[in-house]
Formats: sequence, C-alpha cells, structure tokens
Amino acid sequence: MISKYSHILMLLSAILAFAPVLAVDYILDGYVRIRETSSIQNLVDELTIETQESVYDGLKSIRTVLEQSPSLCTPTFVRNAQNALRTSLALRQFIVENDDGVQYCDLFGQDLHYVVLSKTLTLPGRPETLTVVQLEGYELPMLKVTRLVGAKHVSAIVYLSPRLTLGLPEGLRTATTFRLSLTNGTPIVTLGDYAEFAERTNDLAFIAVNSFASEIPIRAEIAVPFLDVRAGYADLDWAFTIIACLMSGGFLFLALQYVRREAIPAMDIERAIALGELRPYYQPVIHLGTGKLLGCEVLVRWVKRSGKVVPPSEFIDYAEASGLAIPMTVHLMQQVRNELSGLCREMPEIKISINLFEGHFHDNSIVEDVQAIFGGSSIRFRQLVFEITERRPISNNVQAASVIAGLHAIGARLALDDVGTGHSNLAYMQTLGVDIIKIDQVFVDMVKPDSGQVPVLNGLIAMAVDLGAEIVAEGVETEAQAIYLRDHGVVQAQGYLFAPPLKPEAFLNLARALNFVAPKSEDLGDSAAA
Ligand code: C2E
Ligand code: CA
Ligand code: CA
Repeated sequence: MISKYSHILMLLSAILAFAPVLAVDYILDGYVRIRETSSIQNLVDELTIETQESVYDGLKSIRTVLEQSPSLCTPTFVRNAQNALRTSLALRQFIVENDDGVQYCDLFGQDLHYVVLSKTLTLPGRPETLTVVQLEGYELPMLKVTRLVGAKHVSAIVYLSPRLTLGLPEGLRTATTFRLSLTNGTPIVTLGDYAEFAERTNDLAFIAVNSFASEIPIRAEIAVPFLDVRAGYADLDWAFTIIACLMSGGFLFLALQYVRREAIPAMDIERAIALGELRPYYQPVIHLGTGKLLGCEVLVRWVKRSGKVVPPSEFIDYAEASGLAIPMTVHLMQQVRNELSGLCREMPEIKISINLFEGHFHDNSIVEDVQAIFGGSSIRFRQLVFEITERRPISNNVQAASVIAGLHAIGARLALDDVGTGHSNLAYMQTLGVDIIKIDQVFVDMVKPDSGQVPVLNGLIAMAVDLGAEIVAEGVETEAQAIYLRDHGVVQAQGYLFAPPLKPEAFLNLARALNFVAPKSEDLGDSAAA
C-alpha cells in the first residue's frame, strides 16, 4: 500500500514542485501591470498638471501686465510683457489683437504668424478663454489664453507642459498612443494611431490610463503595449525564475525525502528481520464464562532501535506483497517458541494463534517450517492455531487444501479471521477444514449498551454453530459486548476490555495471574532448544 501510494505521491509532488516556476510569469505579469499602471498614471497626471500650470502662467502674466500697465501697447505695456516673459517658464508670446485678428503689438515687434487649431473654450469661473494654436516654426502646438479688454483681445501664448516641449519622456516613447486634447475632443498633440485607442483601453495587451486637469478643459490619455514594458523587467524575470527554480528544487527534495522516509521502512523489512526488530506481541484470548486465559494471538510489531513501535498496518501489506511475510513468520514463530515454551508446559491447554497470509498457501513449506520450529519444543502442534483472513481470497484452492491438510495432519488447527468482512463463501471455506471462526470487530462493535438484539451478529454466530466451528469474538471493548456474546453462546473473546497485544513479559505475568500459576524463574522457556 505504501509503495503504491508513494508513486502517486511522487508524481503529485513532482507536479506541485514546479508550481513556483509556472507561477513566475503570472505573478510577474501582475506585478508589472500594477507597477507600470501606477507609474504611467503618474506621468500623465504630471503632464496634465504641468499643462494646467502653463495656462495659469499665462493667466498670471495677463493679470500682472494689465495691472501694471492698463493702457494697451504703450512702451510700458510692452516692457512689462517682456518682463513677464523673463519670469515665466511657460510664456512664449504676448499679443494684442482685435476681433478680426489684426495685431496691435506683441513682444518682439514683428507680426506673429500662427494658425488657430480649435474652437474657443471658456475657462470655468474665469473671464479668460482658451484656444489651441500652432505657431510658425514650432513643432508642437501651444495654448492661447485670452482676455477681452474693451474690444481688444489680450493674449498670452504658452507652451504645453515644458516636459512635452523638451522631447517626450521615457515612458511615452514606447507609447503606441498618447493624446493630449481639450475635453471637447479637439486634439492638441497625438502620437500613434488614436483610432484604435478606444479598443485598447479594454485590451489586456495594453496598459491604458487617462487623466483630467482639475481646472482647465484638458485631458491626457495613453495606451502602452504591455509587452514593451514587460520587456523592461527581463532581469527581474530571470531573478524570479531562478528563485522559483530553487524553490521547486527545494520542494522536490523535501517531497523525495518524505517519500523515501515513507518507503524505506518497508524496504527495510529484510534488515529488520535480520536485526531481530520484528517482535511478537501477544493478545490474550479470554473465556467469557470463567475469565481464564484460553490462549493468545501473535501480533507482529516492528520495534525500532529508537524504541519506536511500528504497528503492522504500516508494513504488513508490503511484507505480504514482497513475499517477506514468509521469512517474517518463520522469525516470529522462532521467537514464540523461545518465549512461550515455559508457559505452554505449565498450561498445556492454552492455544497460540499465528497469522498467515495468502502466500503461505502456495506451497507446503509452512508445514515444514512449523514442524522444524515447534517439533521437539514444549509447544505441542495441537496448541497451534493458524489464522487466515477472509479479507483476501485464496487463489489456489487445491494447493490451499493441501497446506491445511498438512497442518491438520500434525494436529494444528485453522481459524478463519475477520469473518463477515470478506467476499469468500464461509460454507465453501468450511469445506477446506476451518475449525475456528473469528468474528470481526465491526460486528462486535454493533453491540451498544442499549442496542437490543444485533441480527447480523446473531446470524454470524448461528452460521458458525451450524458449521460446527468454534467461535472467537474479536475487538471486545465493553462489558456490554462481553455479556451479549456470552449470552449468545460465544465464550472465547479477545479485545481491549481484557488486554491489548502485550510484550512477552507482560503477557506471561497476566497469563499466570489469570490462571493462578505461581511465576517460575525459567520464564522465557526453552530458548536453549532454539
Ligand atoms: P487481525 O489479525 O484482525 O488482528 C486484530 C487486530 O485488532 C490487531 O491489530 C489488534 O491489536 C487489534 N485489536 C485487538 N483488540 C482490539 C480492540 O478491542 N479494539 C480494536 N479497535 N482493535 C483491537 P494489529 O496488531 O494492529 O494488527 C493488524 C492486522 O495486521 C492484523 O489484524 C493482521 O491482519 C495483521 N497482522 C498482525 N500481525 C501479523 C502477523 O504476524 N502476520 C500476518 N500475516 N499478519 C499480521
Ligand atoms: Ca488475526
Ligand atoms: Ca481479525
């Protein structure tokens, strides 16, 4: 069982171990998207704020020049305007015109050539208006802020964000689309193909953000291809991948360690036998009428050098599947002979039950082993019972019948274990010569303090009686169960109510206490005969 699951476990852990590597792209994509969205958002926010500041610069210059020199186009007016130019970063021109565009004066005393690119927009809450203009000889358009003084238009022409004038910032160079526009939709600056912009805002292949100026009708939008910015994270990608590989390696290593830890004990059964680490524990079988000891069942335990006691559930399947259960049983029987010979001499009626498995019924070697080990010891063959579980069917019935006949011939008996839990036909098993039927714990467990009759259990008991077999009830844990069984004619029982599987010394003491035999010094029997 362990080895079967360990393969599945291995496969699962190998797949799981690579999860970090597979997750790198996903995590990094998410990280890049969040980080870049926020940095591009900052950038467009700054551009709109700077553009707004430029407009404020224009508004401020108009106010200052008009306060200092209310008469338009006087030498003082022009000088003040030139001063404004020196103190303002954004201001590019100052101009006075009439409704028809006739120019009265400007900063440099020449006619200013420009084209108007937009409708005139009002600035919310202010007397001034805003238009987009293209000055001759400049690459980018500018903003014209105008105040009406009488019938004259006093205008300051300002750069867009100084940053845009200085050349595009890093983040915008990779931008497939960037647009600065008036909120009525009139474009001021467009880079890339704006027609696709609407599609891109919803496309995961792009990072798209926009930003509105708070006080002036200007907006900036940008869509950057995700792969362009992702490429900038190649170093981080490597670092992440290396870390993830290390993590995967670590996981895999741990998983391997775990699987090996699980699997190695099973592989080591052979060594455990050689080291004498597989020991018999003895669970008493008690007479429910007299409370006397009738015998015991031998149950294997793996007692490690560390003192840890491993139950059979953790290795018995492997032992059986690998065939190691055969040498294990020989080894157990030798210890049983050494440990229980003395007791069997004192109590010639007690029975010792030994568990066999299906593999023991493939040839007659078990009969020979039993003869070799117990022949000549104080344990008589008639004191031995061999248990075969009903959970797994016996494959070769002819050979099995021959083994059973061999055991019967020397005087040993056969018990069918875990009766009621398997698929084999009890009546058919009976034709093989089963002498004892062991009723499984699950049926005994159906007896609760107030449960009344338990028909399934009664049925099993009746069937065993019909077949003329002795009955042993297993897993008796409560007094109610013991009483119920006794009332239904079952007198042999084992279970935690009386004792768990015990170490040899404890079992010998209990046996003698129950059967009133004074302890003897040569307790551990005729090991010399081993
Ligand atoms: P099993 O032959 O049916 O043995 C009875 C199991 O029930 C034992 O478990 C025993 O400790 C446990 N048991 C005893 N009284 C009670 C109780 O009152 N309540 C409960 N819940 N359990 C109780 P254990 O020793 O862990 O053995 C498990 C199984 O391993 C055995 O079941 C048997 O199939 C197998 N096994 C044990 N020793 C050997 C062996 O030497 N050879 C072979 N082939 N199989 C063995
Ligand atoms: Ca058993
Ligand atoms: Ca059993």
